Amino acid sequence: MSHDPNCVFCKIVAGQIPSKKVYEDEELFAFHDIRPHAPIHFMIIPKLHVPSLNEATAEHQALLGRILTLAPRLAREQGASNGFRTVINTGVDGGQEVYHLHVHVMGGPRPWNLG
Ligand code: ADP
Repeated sequence: MSHDPNCVFCKIVAGQIPSKKVYEDEELFAFHDIRPHAPIHFMIIPKLHVPSLNEATAEHQALLGRILTLAPRLAREQGASNGFRTVINTGVDGGQEVYHLHVHVMGGPRPWNLG
């Protein structure tokens, strides 16, 4: 399924739920986390509905690579001048709450509330 009408992040991509957008291109979307764990906290997602890393296949390799190479650029643009943390939660034991693959990017002066 390329789009899940019940998925909150698909709704954000479609503009049906408001978000604070950080970046958008044909394949990717980035927006600020509604409950930030760091002074800078946004997420990069594929527009394509991939539920989690568990469902990622060879056909998603380029997409995943693009997300990771976009992260440092957006982190810098958002003011994370001193490094940043990337997190991907996968599945129940991974603490995943929203089942649309997303990479958390967190930065800014410490200490952070790591939740
Ligand atoms: P966790 O909550 O354990 O970090 P996830 O890795 O699934 O689990 O992250 C989902 C993230 O999506 C959470 O950090 C949450 O604050 C964020 N979130 C949920 N709904 C929205 C929304 N409408 N806009 C922005 N961020 C959201």
